[in-house]
Amino acid sequence: MSNTATSLPDAKRVGMVSLGCPKALVDSERILTRLRADGYAMSPDYAGADVVLVNTCGFLDSAKEESLAAIGEAVAENGRVIVTGCMGDEADAIRAAHPQVLAVTGAHQYEQVVEAVHEHAPPSQGPYVDLIPQPDIKLTPRHYGYLKISEGCNHSCAFCIIPQLRGKLASRRIDAVLREAEKLVAAGTKELLVISQDTSAYGVDTRHEARTWKDREVRAHMTDLARELGNLRIADGAPPWVRLHYVYPYPHVDKVIPLMAEGLLTPYLDIPFQHAAPAVLKRMKRPANEAKVLERVRSWREVCPDIAIRSSFVVGFPGETEDDFKYLLDWLEEAQLDQVGAFRFEPVEGAAANALSDPVPEPVKEERYAQLMEVTSRISAAKLAAKVGRTLPVIIDEVGEADEDGDIGATGRSQADAPEIDGAVYLRNVPETLAPGDIVDATIEDADAHDLYGALADQSA
Ligand code: SF4
Repeated sequence: MSNTATSLPDAKRVGMVSLGCPKALVDSERILTRLRADGYAMSPDYAGADVVLVNTCGFLDSAKEESLAAIGEAVAENGRVIVTGCMGDEADAIRAAHPQVLAVTGAHQYEQVVEAVHEHAPPSQGPYVDLIPQPDIKLTPRHYGYLKISEGCNHSCAFCIIPQLRGKLASRRIDAVLREAEKLVAAGTKELLVISQDTSAYGVDTRHEARTWKDREVRAHMTDLARELGNLRIADGAPPWVRLHYVYPYPHVDKVIPLMAEGLLTPYLDIPFQHAAPAVLKRMKRPANEAKVLERVRSWREVCPDIAIRSSFVVGFPGETEDDFKYLLDWLEEAQLDQVGAFRFEPVEGAAANALSDPVPEPVKEERYAQLMEVTSRISAAKLAAKVGRTLPVIIDEVGEADEDGDIGATGRSQADAPEIDGAVYLRNVPETLAPGDIVDATIEDADAHDLYGALADQSA
């Protein structure tokens, strides 16, 4: 059958396997949006795809193994595979393990990956394909979306190879970021997750270049960005939830805390402290490594008592002594962080830390990891227990099926919980009209070390 002037040709289909962090997910979304604008369709499975893209993570050696396994699976299931993402910078290792891959491109090489798809699965161009308005593709649920404000990083933390993989800090224009945020909110996104490698450094590379936005000058600066995002409005007239991730405690962070107290910014900060002992932070070459962080945290809580702080820590970094570790535990007791993730130090190929002396033996790392988790879980549990009896806003992620008694449960998150990394709020007995993305008031009835349990405020007994 031939195409008439009004029929669209069968579009070529692209499958996507996206591994790694939220930043990689944003890259996958951008690539797919671009491909769809070029007339490609998406395939939800291997079998229906003309070509499969694997967006890899190469941060830790264990992530590389996972990436190689995913490439192997795509090769076995489909055979026509293009690799991109952080591990794409190690083309030789990929080709050694999987010589059949069609092309390998590195992190953020959007043009190259799109070209590779065009080469290996040429698009079926029809006269009307480019005229069809297409919304951007989002791999995250519609009610929350990641907003990437910059690529790369100007620091040189000893355990990290991101600056080698992704280059120096390159900030996006503030007006482009705000336009994207406005578009997301207009399309139904109620929660914006601001991501980068170093959100507090946004605009340092462009000397905080100002642009005109809504008849006013705004700078590429974290505080201007936070204020403008807080000025957006979702359908019910309230500001969207806006979370700042990967924030380093530079002095200007103090300026965004009042926005949280005013309800314009979600009272949440994700600060990857990684350690507290000055000697370890120095060996790690961490940015914003200053002694007064605990005082700052205290002053933030005075301005905004509900602020939730989440962080991650590395135990067993080379040279970490018993005293350093004890310092970290004492610091954690003082800091009373809401949620903590921990990692045992693992050498990453190409990282400066590999050359440091005094490695910590594996059993000691395990022991310290277990101790740190015990302390931080106890603190989280106490902080969550203190919320029992309170009524909190909860954004709904998922609504379940009715059980044998007809009760429907829902899973959501409070303002203290970012998707995928923090805890959840489990609600009982919700109406069947409740939908993902709804923001409801919930009365908290119970808590454990990570999650809260409750009911809609007007239904709790
Ligand atoms: S701040 Fe440090 S850990 Fe974060 S990306 Fe830059 S070098 Fe890596």
